[in-house]
Amino acid sequence: MIGRTLRWASSLLVRRPWPRGAALTIVRHHRVYADGERPLYRLGVAEGVLRAQLALLRREGLVPVTVSEGLARLAEGRPGHHVALTFDDGYADNVTRALPILAGAGARATFFLTAGLIEARRAPWWDELAHALETARAPAVPFAGTTLELGDAAARARALRLLLPGLRAAPATQRALLDGLRAALGVADPAPCELATWEECRRLSAAGMEIGAHTLTHPFLSTLPPGAQREEVAGSFGLVEERLGARPRGIAFPGGDHDADSLEAARDAGAAWAVTTRAGVNGPGADPFTLRRRAWTDGACLGPGGRFSERLARAELAGAFDAWRARPAGAEAAP
Ligand SMILES: [Zn+2]
Repeated sequence: MIGRTLRWASSLLVRRPWPRGAALTIVRHHRVYADGERPLYRLGVAEGVLRAQLALLRREGLVPVTVSEGLARLAEGRPGHHVALTFDDGYADNVTRALPILAGAGARATFFLTAGLIEARRAPWWDELAHALETARAPAVPFAGTTLELGDAAARARALRLLLPGLRAAPATQRALLDGLRAALGVADPAPCELATWEECRRLSAAGMEIGAHTLTHPFLSTLPPGAQREEVAGSFGLVEERLGARPRGIAFPGGDHDADSLEAARDAGAAWAVTTRAGVNGPGADPFTLRRRAWTDGACLGPGGRFSERLARAELAGAFDAWRARPAGAEAAP
């Protein structure tokens, strides 16, 4: 990943045009934080940044739509640049912070719910990790052949970065690592679940937002055998339909991870489309089951000094730095 200052400086030099003809840019968001909030594991944008992003789009004559609406426009061959907003995982802050901002801007979005965790009121694995590191009492703990330093916020952030790659694994490996970590750190209480309740999710659909599927428990799908993938995918479509009264039309693969079996599971569950985490823009001929999405994080919008840079944010949304960013490491990598 290239540095923010370099990207900001580059954005001064080039005004990259929006894509020509009919094109759909799908933006990938996760959480929406209160301005000034500093969580150990940051997965999303500040509400001020989301507001500024919508204002930028409005000045460009763009009103965000849902993924299904964006795809319908592409299918009609409606010319112009269309932008769809998406929010992954189903956090409560999507309802309490994003929804009022979207409503105020006349914008719509697609929200992908981790249905099984919402149902069980369980935190996703990365929140378990952050909670364990945040609540551990000891300043240093031996774990997995190394010593985790936890003396201050910076040390805990380093420990988190050290542990994250090993947790991008099959559910059983992930579970064993997390349980081992909690035992080593002496953390007994579960991480609080910050996902929305079904009641809160109903407020999203009532406001005209689209609800999509995001599996039951957020596994890396390609680590699972075909049958288990089916349970995760079909199970999430069924549970959302049961709780919210409408079957999702699409799915976001957790972490973008998928293989041929995941695509088949999505089709069999009745999905009309699926989004990935591969950056890029979608043209009229795009494969609806491997739609590209672009992250539009704080880091993609804030210039030197931490102020919203319209020029940088616009360049990022136009994909000026897609080729410069390596995957899966870097800002494009979600959990
Ligand atoms: Zn996710």
